[in-house]
Amino acid sequence: MIKVDEALKIVFDNVKELPSDTIPIELSLGRILSADISADFDIPACDISSMDGYAVNSEDKSKIFNVVGESKAGEKFVRSISSGEAVNIMTGGIIPDGADSVVMVEHTKLISVAQVEILKASIKGENIRCQGEEVKQNTVVLRKGKKITPEILGMLARVGRTEVAVSYQPQVAIVSTGNEIINIDEILSEGTIFDANYYILSGMVDMCGGQVVRLGIVRDEVEEIKTVISRGLSSDVILLSGGVSAGKYDLVHIALEELSGTILFHKVAQRPGKPVLFGKINDVLIFGLPGNPVSVAVTFENFVKPVLYKMQGAEYSPLIVEAVLEKDFVKDKGLKYFVRAKTEWRDGVFYSMPYDNQSSGVLRSCVESNSLIILDEEQEFIKAGTKIKIKYV
Ligand code: AMP
Ligand code: MG
Repeated sequence: MIKVDEALKIVFDNVKELPSDTIPIELSLGRILSADISADFDIPACDISSMDGYAVNSEDKSKIFNVVGESKAGEKFVRSISSGEAVNIMTGGIIPDGADSVVMVEHTKLISVAQVEILKASIKGENIRCQGEEVKQNTVVLRKGKKITPEILGMLARVGRTEVAVSYQPQVAIVSTGNEIINIDEILSEGTIFDANYYILSGMVDMCGGQVVRLGIVRDEVEEIKTVISRGLSSDVILLSGGVSAGKYDLVHIALEELSGTILFHKVAQRPGKPVLFGKINDVLIFGLPGNPVSVAVTFENFVKPVLYKMQGAEYSPLIVEAVLEKDFVKDKGLKYFVRAKTEWRDGVFYSMPYDNQSSGVLRSCVESNSLIILDEEQEFIKAGTKIKIKYV
């Protein structure tokens, strides 16, 4: 049985980045930038006012200024200003030649239509957004690998992009295995249970930018599993749940072998999710996730999620922080644990309380938690008050 870190290395060594596609920016929210974006021009394109007020020269020590015109946003005042002159300027208006600062309207008093008293002298550069202050021409404003957020959409528009290069979305085929598993629109009978794993996995794939291909439920029969895996081979990844433990009817590994697939590991020293299997047929990555819903969620989080990010060339930076364990915890030595827990910020410290029932069949442990406490292989008894690592999920 290999350790989590070794398993992760094997997985990553087998991931290939997907090619990219160019799409209108309107369709790009949530996709991953597949190339750096630079600006073809300075932003702002020239010096502009950041306030409504009066553009003046800061060296002009007059108290009363003649208001010689207006600079509205989008329309530059026609000539250069001279001593004793001010231009009424609006936020976003171009700074007239001869002016080097803006006195905000609150620091002025209008004496007549054409005259203004400056109550507080300006200093050079005051209330001016300088040319290129935000973005200099030909510099990178957005790095490859970023997930496109609404603000990034705004930035793409700001630099005048109508289209953007994004990574292809990985196609992820999802299969639930098990004679007892039925669809949620079927009638429960003794011994059957609804297929929860499809919904966990499809939601997670969607949140990671992948496209779900639903392949349904198959029985614990090698031929059925082989057929469904073959159908999944037009996808980039196949996720199967169930059928990878040590039982007589856990047949996923046999199906994979009979299809001449490569099994790269089967079993990882972790809880939950110990029986997890990872293999390949050609370039298609195949994960056999243990059937218990908690194992499905946690193994996806730890193994599949980073893979889907990497395929899209996306930045992956899980939020891991130090927290204080709120109750004693006992674990098996030799296994890395991912303990479902509720973590809270109180008085400047994160505190983390493990959910009472850590059985991998109890999906409520995930629903009631917001984090995974990560306990390393060598740990055994962890006392309340110990500092531990948690990963927000
Ligand atoms: P297995 O890994 O096939 O031995 O399954 C382990 C446990 O997870 C069993 O109790 C299964 O009934 C349950 N299970 C397997 N697949 C699903 C599924 N799709 N939805 C909910 N529970 C499942
Ligand atoms: Mg099963």
